[in-house]
Amino acid sequence: MNAPRALGERIAALIAAQGPISVAQYMTLALHDAQSGYYATRQPLGRDFTTAPEISQMFGEMLGLWCAQVWHDQGRPKSVRLVELGPGRGTLMADALRAAKAVPDFRAALEVVLVEASPALTAIQQKTLAGCGVPLSWQTHFPDGFADRPLFVLANEFFDALPVRQYVKTAKAWHERMVVAEDGGLAFALAPLPTPPAAIPADRAGAPEGGVYEVSAASLALAGEIARAVAAKGGAALFVDYGHDGTGFGETLQAMRDGRPAGVLDDPGANDLSAHVDFAALADAARRGGAMVSGPRPQGAFLAALGLSARAERLIAANPGEAGAVRAAAQRLLDPAAMGDLFKALALLPPGAHTPPGF
Ligand code: SAH
Repeated sequence: MNAPRALGERIAALIAAQGPISVAQYMTLALHDAQSGYYATRQPLGRDFTTAPEISQMFGEMLGLWCAQVWHDQGRPKSVRLVELGPGRGTLMADALRAAKAVPDFRAALEVVLVEASPALTAIQQKTLAGCGVPLSWQTHFPDGFADRPLFVLANEFFDALPVRQYVKTAKAWHERMVVAEDGGLAFALAPLPTPPAAIPADRAGAPEGGVYEVSAASLALAGEIARAVAAKGGAALFVDYGHDGTGFGETLQAMRDGRPAGVLDDPGANDLSAHVDFAALADAARRGGAMVSGPRPQGAFLAALGLSARAERLIAANPGEAGAVRAAAQRLLDPAAMGDLFKALALLPPGAHTPPGF
């Protein structure tokens, strides 16, 4: 029997048969191909990247208490959904639910839904969350029909994994960057026909030659859908990710393997692919969906305002032997030179709501 073909060869064959694909289609195949996709087949956390909930239990605790506070501010509804997008190893949700024991009525109101595309990570989440005492279910996509009761949504380092399309400014016009098959491998090439000017937002039109506009249609559609649900029935969403405020004309799509940069088109399925989140675009999509938006606020300032340092001191008082590790973790989450500035928090609330904690 022949060895299964590598994903790169299968993508090249697809392009040879059907024509060039967008960068977004390439990302989707490289991350989610059922046989060889990065998320479909690997457990990347702690190997290719380390996320805030994996750095410290304090991160998930703060987010869980944030939800409980907003729930309280909204009149303590009896039945709410708490959804996490892309829960990784399930660590954030486990920490959030443990912290929420301090607010028993909030915990008792919860039905938790984990939205996860990867079967490998779903299995890990099921183990992590077994016995947490709250009803749990899993979905591979954010489902329709979540606008029937208040909705809380948490997403950490989720939107950076959603596919982006890229457009490049040339001397005369914008052209979409495509993935083509060349000499048996994959390469980037600009689409020969220009992109209609209406597809490029007005504030990007003045980009210099070589400037790149990246857009994640999947992210904007999802933010709009969540905003509509929150505006209709209450609740809130909190998105934390690394990203920018929508200015600048650089490309941000990157590949990482074992913590080191790799080529975006090299060995698809083996490398993590992600792009910086365009928080200005995400906030616009949420406002168009009818939500009130707070932020983006840098993660360090957000977590400091929620009292992360006081929580660290309490953990240290309970476990003096861990003082060094707890302080180092707090520092990594808060310090602008570490995650404190590049990572940002964005909140979606019903129109007219109080500014949420931390903003
Ligand atoms: N939130 C976790 C994991 C971040 S990694 C943490 O902070 O540790 C990104 C997560 O999103 C993984 O669980 C990955 O499998 C999931 N994911 C990526 N793309 C997805 C998609 N299109 N639909 C659902 N889940 C996705």
